[in-house]
Amino acid sequence: RIISAKVTNEDEEMAEFSLRPRFFSEYIGQSRVKENLKVYIEAAKMRGEALDHVLLYGPPGLGKTTLSNIIANELGVNIRTTSGPAIERPGDLAAILTNLQPHDLLFIDEIHRLNRSVEEVLYPAMEDFALDIVIGKGPSARSVRLDLPPFTLVGATTRAGSLSSPLRDRFGVMSRLEYYTVEELTLIVSRAADLLQVPIQEAGAVEIASRARGTPRIANRLLKRVRDFVQVRGEGIITEAGARDALDRIQVDKMGLDHVDHRLLMTIIEKFRGGPVGLETLAATIGEESHTIEDVYEPYLMQIGFLQRTPRGRMVTMRCCEHLQVEWPK
Ligand code: ADP
Repeated sequence: RIISAKVTNEDEEMAEFSLRPRFFSEYIGQSRVKENLKVYIEAAKMRGEALDHVLLYGPPGLGKTTLSNIIANELGVNIRTTSGPAIERPGDLAAILTNLQPHDLLFIDEIHRLNRSVEEVLYPAMEDFALDIVIGKGPSARSVRLDLPPFTLVGATTRAGSLSSPLRDRFGVMSRLEYYTVEELTLIVSRAADLLQVPIQEAGAVEIASRARGTPRIANRLLKRVRDFVQVRGEGIITEAGARDALDRIQVDKMGLDHVDHRLLMTIIEKFRGGPVGLETLAATIGEESHTIEDVYEPYLMQIGFLQRTPRGRMVTMRCCEHLQVEWPK
């Protein structure tokens, strides 16, 4: 799915290819989050302390990983990157923590997926920069406290609500990333086109931006596909018409919806008279996992006012029917 916000190999390459902003000055949008972080970073630097722990949350592809790298660059410290599912045992986390240098940044992506026993190692590490390890077994077992260098934990999650409250409480800074506006995405597309050395007209960038679901990762990916079409057709520059044609061909509509969104919305309209329909029923009907619907498809559909979550289930809106050019089923 081209408009999925999940990371693909190509995205990894793009990040390698330094489409990923490295400093705040290159990071477009999210101004409130950015301005606050700048102050906290400056203050930590003035005091010669490690920055307080930061939790970044919001839908995938909005720039959480990018932001954590920028925080490390702005602080002038090393970053160590890992993810919740990658840390299987408490010992794995202990090994990472004991290898940090003072003031280093530890980035844990998908932090809501840490298992309980690993999470418990984090509590004293975050609070007191200490590691409690148990030596020996049975009656002779005793707990020893090891000091850790002061460090900054940056956690990223798509679901702040799934974090246990003891973990959530240990973050001094919690920042929520928002979907980007078309104007911001237009800047991101233009900047990426520059870096990829593809000439682009402003209107071409707007066309790509407006179909990118408020998400920079998707904007960059659409740009690459449009670039393919434009290059093969021998057009030297991405124009509005060129972008529109390419995006129509890859079946991403004017609102950035693809066949999966269409199927989801049309199912609610045709099979459930517009809703309300329960999440599990909907998931079973379209053959998707309910948490994928909840985390990946729904947030954007709700953001653009096409879908509503009610206590009785999901409902489409009149606006959605207008866009899909079907009759309002009520
Ligand atoms: P997340 O960690 O939230 O899933 P990433 O940080 O991996 O998202 O961002 C995805 C891609 O989008 C990055 O490779 C980067 O090129 C681009 N990107 C994200 N945020 C911005 C931004 N504010 N300005 C420019 N490009 C961005």
